[in-house]
Amino acid sequence: MTKDRLYLFDTTLRDGAQTQGIDFSVEDKTLIARALDEIGLDYVEGGWPGANPTDTAFFATDPGLSNARFVAFGMTRRSGRSASNDPGLAALFQSRATAICLVGKTWDYHVDVALGVPREENVEAIADSIRAVVASGREALFDAEHFFDGYKANPAYALECITAAYKAGARWVVLCDTNGGSLPDDVERIVGEVVRHVPGNRLGIHTHNDTDNAVANTLAAIKAGARHLQGTLNGIGERCGNANIVSLVANLVLKPELSERYETGVSVAQCAELTRVAHLLDEILNRAPNRHQPYVGANAFAHKGGLHVSAVMKDPKTYEHVPPEAVGNRRKILVSDQAGKSNILWRLEEIGINLQGNDPRVTRLLDEVKEREFLGYTYDGAEASFELLARRALGQVPEFFTVDSFRVTVERRHNALGKLTTVSEATVKITVDGNTLFSVAEGNGPVNALDQALRKDLGKYQKNIDDLRLVDFKVRILTSGTEAVTRVLVESADGKGRRWFTVGVSPNIVDASFQALTDSITYKLMLDLRPR
Ligand SMILES: [Zn+2]
Repeated sequence: MTKDRLYLFDTTLRDGAQTQGIDFSVEDKTLIARALDEIGLDYVEGGWPGANPTDTAFFATDPGLSNARFVAFGMTRRSGRSASNDPGLAALFQSRATAICLVGKTWDYHVDVALGVPREENVEAIADSIRAVVASGREALFDAEHFFDGYKANPAYALECITAAYKAGARWVVLCDTNGGSLPDDVERIVGEVVRHVPGNRLGIHTHNDTDNAVANTLAAIKAGARHLQGTLNGIGERCGNANIVSLVANLVLKPELSERYETGVSVAQCAELTRVAHLLDEILNRAPNRHQPYVGANAFAHKGGLHVSAVMKDPKTYEHVPPEAVGNRRKILVSDQAGKSNILWRLEEIGINLQGNDPRVTRLLDEVKEREFLGYTYDGAEASFELLARRALGQVPEFFTVDSFRVTVERRHNALGKLTTVSEATVKITVDGNTLFSVAEGNGPVNALDQALRKDLGKYQKNIDDLRLVDFKVRILTSGTEAVTRVLVESADGKGRRWFTVGVSPNIVDASFQALTDSITYKLMLDLRPR
């Protein structure tokens, strides 16, 4: 059976850039455009040249795409002007875009109220503008704004608008669910009616996620005949976002019911780059990736329940709908209070410890994890503390140092200038190799003072912790067992780019922090001094 080709159009840099708090630089745009090109997408929409200086600058350069068409976005000509005399279109024609996507109105209500021009005039503006794009030697696309609402209100007029674009030479007429309120059945029915006027191999779909159906609506449109689909990386976009192109690609490549009917420009190998590209966007946006994002999230293939884990170890298919490697993700086994032996064995194997299931040390470790989790510890997010716990149980962690005592004071007083200040000071007594070391440090809080004091003098190990730094510090008050306790999670990093998480629990926040901090230092020494 020959497969129908679907064309993938990414609008992260245009529609996705409408998201609150997102502001791409030219360098960001170049990086993202190249990544999208590398994974085999057909179109990369870079922005709106002429609308803002960044986009104008971006379209003045060649982003160096090898396959994808470089698309500029703009509006159909204004009423009362000719296409050749329209400043908006002129900016598009001056850009280095190889394709131009023009948005236009197809909802009579918008034409009457928002544009305030005769309906016929709007149809002519669409046709003129598309003809001008074709005449410039570029591929023309038409984004039919509010198409689904427009079609419901006045199907004849909505069809007249898009037929005008199609006849004027638009390669793709893209039906936009601009308000994002449509449901899959509506989309499938309407696209099914539209294909009788504009053939499916000239029809596209652009959806928003206001009903959490953007991906489903896109698939519904394909089912009804559309052969071009638009989306953004990780579904970023105005309000609730756009269709997530990461999920769309994964579905189209990995789900047999789709991959047997349709082909895309994305190969199986390129599909395995999805996790990397999804995380690249988060890195550029400086935000933590959504752990629960389908396919590429850190938890997408995480297994926690003991029963699940033993089944996954026998055959991952029992609890995984696709193999994690297919999208470049990895399987993760969480150690938790629900931990069965399988979780522990799996986790031990990951850190290079091979034990048999019937080894009594495994049972002991499992009991200890369960008991500590009852007290409020969590090892799901604190892999380094888990590794220390496991290796200690096996006698594999040398006692690099011992903290004999510490004292932390917090003093609130008026300074010499009469200003009210709060000063924290920590004193620690540490033994390293039989030598007792005293350190005193001030900090901008008790935990910071304690951290400074602990790391001030570690004797012969000092050089190993010089590049250690705290990246994040999270405090949670929980009721566990019989009393309220504080759990502190510390994220640390070193000069070699390694990151690790440690945990401490105590009724006292300073003591909980102390545990997490000393675990972090011990882990760092183990990384450096114990060859793996
Ligand atoms: Zn949109």
